[in-house]
Amino acid sequence: MNNEQHEQVGKALTLADVKTGEYCVIVRVTGHGSFRHRLLEMGFVRGEKVKVIRNAPLRDPIEYEIMGGHVSLRRIEASRVEVVPVSEEIANNYTFHGTVTEDTERILGHKGKRIHVALVGNPNCGKTSFFNHATGMREKVGNYSGVTVDSKLGYYKYQDYTIVIADLPGTYSLTEYTPEERYVREYIMEQHPDIVLDVVDASNLERNLFLTTQLIDMNVPMVMALNMYDELEKNGDQLDIDTLSELFGFPIIPTVSSRGTGIKEVMAKVVDLYENLEENTKHIHINYGTDLEKSIDIIKKDMLEHLDLSGAYSTRYLAIELLAGDKMISEMVGKFDDDGSVVKVADEQRKQIEKQYHEDAATIISGAKYGFVRGALLETFTQGGDRDKQPAYSVDKILTNRWLGFPILIFFLWFMFQMTFTLGAYPQAWLESFFGWLGDVITNVLPDGIVKDLLVDGIIAGVGGVCSFLPNILILFFFISILEDTGYMARAAFIMDKLMHRMGLHGKSFIPYIIGFGCSVPAIMATRTLENRKDRILTIITVPFMSCSARLPVYLLIISAFFTKHQGLVLTSIYLLGIVTAIITSLIVKKAAFQQERDQFVMELPPYRIPTFRNAVIHMWDKSVQYLKKMGTVILVATIIIWALEYFPQHSPQIDAYTAQIEQVEADETLDEATKTAQIKQLELDRSACQIENSYIGRFGKFVAPVFRPLGFDWQMGVSLITGFAAKEIVVSSMGVLYHSDAEADEHSMALQKSLQSHTWSSGPQMGQPVFTPWVAFGYMVFILLYFPCVAALTAVKRESNLKWMLFTAVYTTSVAWVAAFLVRVVSMVGG
Ligand code: GDP
Ligand code: MG
Repeated sequence: MNNEQHEQVGKALTLADVKTGEYCVIVRVTGHGSFRHRLLEMGFVRGEKVKVIRNAPLRDPIEYEIMGGHVSLRRIEASRVEVVPVSEEIANNYTFHGTVTEDTERILGHKGKRIHVALVGNPNCGKTSFFNHATGMREKVGNYSGVTVDSKLGYYKYQDYTIVIADLPGTYSLTEYTPEERYVREYIMEQHPDIVLDVVDASNLERNLFLTTQLIDMNVPMVMALNMYDELEKNGDQLDIDTLSELFGFPIIPTVSSRGTGIKEVMAKVVDLYENLEENTKHIHINYGTDLEKSIDIIKKDMLEHLDLSGAYSTRYLAIELLAGDKMISEMVGKFDDDGSVVKVADEQRKQIEKQYHEDAATIISGAKYGFVRGALLETFTQGGDRDKQPAYSVDKILTNRWLGFPILIFFLWFMFQMTFTLGAYPQAWLESFFGWLGDVITNVLPDGIVKDLLVDGIIAGVGGVCSFLPNILILFFFISILEDTGYMARAAFIMDKLMHRMGLHGKSFIPYIIGFGCSVPAIMATRTLENRKDRILTIITVPFMSCSARLPVYLLIISAFFTKHQGLVLTSIYLLGIVTAIITSLIVKKAAFQQERDQFVMELPPYRIPTFRNAVIHMWDKSVQYLKKMGTVILVATIIIWALEYFPQHSPQIDAYTAQIEQVEADETLDEATKTAQIKQLELDRSACQIENSYIGRFGKFVAPVFRPLGFDWQMGVSLITGFAAKEIVVSSMGVLYHSDAEADEHSMALQKSLQSHTWSSGPQMGQPVFTPWVAFGYMVFILLYFPCVAALTAVKRESNLKWMLFTAVYTTSVAWVAAFLVRVVSMVGG
């Protein structure tokens, strides 16, 4: 490295050098992205005054007074803050008000007005042309080869800034394989240029942007010069630069560096970014897919526990490179790492990934990078008519085609749901008969009493009923995993993006929505692939409107009982109503809570892969674990509680009267056996109805009945809904108990249907009339669709957002459900 550069970068006085009791003013903060950001947030900005409270040589941390408060920084952090020392007198007469004033200028002089910019880009993208035009120097332009790997420094004056430009060798990538690549990477990592100027050949975007993705991983402050812009225009190509800039999170300026066009604009952006004046910047992550992201997180976590890399490098970048198996990075990390655990963890993760994918981790990572680039370009780039010659990924042309995309998507979804229910029906039947058998066995083995009742009517009936949906859930998740693993889901998200944007959402929300038809819990977890908070929250609170599979049995019961015609249509309308409600909700909430935030993200188009059975099973399992946990915990406990509330109290004068009557019939010698059994059966039914009405849940149901009355629901319906708070699956079993159907196990649902059909109002103005009309039944399904998501889903909402949004979801959904069911009621009255 040449001397000038050393002078520029190495010798500056830093906060770590200032002694106890002395004052200084901050020139600038160096170091990588998030670390630098944190320091800036703490008030360590250019022009701010700092007093050293305690700085013992070689001791950590150092204590400072800044903005009237005390903070401590570690030595390594303090060494990244460049300062000028000032005397106590000057310090006492100087206050910083957040903007650089003449005072500040006088103290800082020309310190911090030198901005170190590194030109990084592919060979022949026009770096040297840019450099020559900007600096007035005469470096050799043309193909770079055979020249020693080195950088050239030159200077550009912009206002009172001196921009020191380093022309680096051209590279296609930033790995360890060629001397140029090693040189450029080390330059960025060790010299910490203030800004990396990514020079991109606009006539060859896909290949050039690959390097950009590596810079994004490195998390360095960046400006992009979109060079050869004349070529792009000549080709008739179109690029939406504003959108691309928004997607990438840094400024992009078109340039024609052979003519010097755009250089001044680039420099203006460089200065803005350096002075933190550029508003439209954000740090984005390239999404490497669930498995790799998981590994990256594991490595990062270990790194934070073991290494002291404070601010020097982005841990995410190091983790990605370690995962890719980069020897140099692994050596470098090894130097910080006393017990070698980080490298070991990374090796384990890499082996695991490679075993799972049968592919090099580095290949998978570059695949994802190209996926990111393709996604960004598909959204912003239109190729000129006469140059349509992209053979690669022609499948995408079909799958994301404006006309073909939707029918294909609908076909896949239809196929997926069809499979879920037709294939799932078999194991579902087996499980049902298994639990029926288990109930019978226990009935025969155990003596009559509370334990038997709890086991048979409580636990087996409740959990067994829920368990029978497990096959459907597993199959649905299996298909979703396959669609994700092949890379199709990303395309689906892509074609949904425009539509989703209209509702204020992101295309990626589409995946959680689809999962939501299975179960809201994993769906809410799946929102983690959404990068920004607004999209995540909107998706999280609207996912519960996607009718989860637990609600399906209720619909099936009610539809088969009250709709003889158009059953499919009724069911579809319920699902559609859920989707429409989600859209309206998202529009409203966005308007109300997130008006300011506007953000766009790249929709990655990962390479297509042949899905392996093993991977699909692993991913299916990941998603199902949540559901299983819910069954083992929430549903089990809720079932027991509901059972107990129904079971007690066991005695009242009325109940005892029935019992006495039954005994009387049994003792009656004059009756023949058949009449006897029939009478006893009827009496027992009446007794259990009376018992339930008198039970705690019955009393509670009557207490809240007025709330449901305007909707045309009786108290049993209300109680069933309340039991559904725990889990929607419970609604059907509650109805089974409350409408006391006298079913043999296998005819259970037929019997329940009959007793629903024949159920009448026992009091009030409609006494004697049937409770369930098709309209009431429809309103009831609407309520079930929209109201309070189950406890497990709400817990997930809280975990993935916060308490506030959880409460909002609970109250909002239930209110919407009530209003919607009420509207159904009103329509039914008006319509007759
Ligand atoms: P480097 O390898 O990145 O340093 O690229 P050079 O600066 O050596 O440029 C390579 C070739 O591209 C030279 O022939 C330049 O004249 C040409 N070039 C550079 N910038 C532009 C541009 O914006 N438009 C066009 N049409 N040609 C350019
Ligand atoms: Mg060059």
